[in-house]
Amino acid sequence: MKKIDNAIDSTCFYYTNKCNITCGHCISKCTPKKKGKLELKKTVEWLKDLAEMKIKSAGFSGGEPLIFFDEITCIISKAKKLGLNVGLLTNGTWAKNWNSTTRTLKGLNKSGLDKLEISIDEFHQKYVPIKNISNILDASKKFSKPEIALRLTKTGDHEYLKILFLLLEKIGKTKIFLQALFPYGRAKKLNQRKFLINKRASKCRCECLNLPIVDVDGSVYICSQGQLLGKKSIYFLGNALEKPLKEIFQEFKESKLVYFLKNLGPEKLFKKIGRETKSNKGYVGLCHYCLENSRKIKKQALFNALEKFEPVT
Ligand code: SF4
Ligand code: SF4
Repeated sequence: MKKIDNAIDSTCFYYTNKCNITCGHCISKCTPKKKGKLELKKTVEWLKDLAEMKIKSAGFSGGEPLIFFDEITCIISKAKKLGLNVGLLTNGTWAKNWNSTTRTLKGLNKSGLDKLEISIDEFHQKYVPIKNISNILDASKKFSKPEIALRLTKTGDHEYLKILFLLLEKIGKTKIFLQALFPYGRAKKLNQRKFLINKRASKCRCECLNLPIVDVDGSVYICSQGQLLGKKSIYFLGNALEKPLKEIFQEFKESKLVYFLKNLGPEKLFKKIGRETKSNKGYVGLCHYCLENSRKIKKQALFNALEKFEPVT
């Protein structure tokens, strides 16, 4: 019988749910009032676990992780000493002027941060002037690291193109990652025309199941989208404040659910366990299909059903 050994290439830590802005599309409903934050000491222990498990990278997201600049740069330095490749996602509110931009980039450079991703779209730019983003793109030329990338949310009405246009002259070779607007959290209230619906979204296999996440309360999920359905969902693995992260990750590595989601895709897996799903309803992407159709699946029933299947040899 083939032994399951799902790879973990990276782990993202949702370091805080506090944010200094309140974007209208925020799936995590972050606000300046939220107080959730991981502990520095505990996070460093988890990073040691990652290094011992030969996981190559770690990422930090939120909320806005740079609200806790000293803490985060200290964690990044420790992660670098452990040999990890480190990335961080920010909204760029700190880049108000040249001084604040170079000061922050200098601090991130000193910490050893490898990659800094900046969220851009019409929702973020209601709060963050586009000038901030161009400050970062300009000032980053002074530093060898971090590499800058942009993360852009696509919308059905193509408003995101206007933001891109405003940055056109500055972008140069900067990488741009596109992501779908997800109808969860505050985005649920947005006009339907904002969502890019794809009728064939369910037809793929899941290709991002190598990146479990640690949420702000220590909950670990097989993927970042899974966190949106919470602890009762099939995506929840356990809480790293209650159980060693290494043990939780070992379960991920041996998980039949992860294996079949990766190798069959959610649609075929749900069919295999006898669930009728609405595959042609139209979803913004595979994850939207996966989340919506997993809602009614009872975790224990799913695991019992999976017991009967063996991995492909
Ligand atoms: S910057 Fe990010 S975390 Fe903060 S409100 Fe906007 S989408 Fe949410
Ligand atoms: S397809 Fe499902 S399992 Fe895969 S990343 Fe999306 S929500 Fe997670």
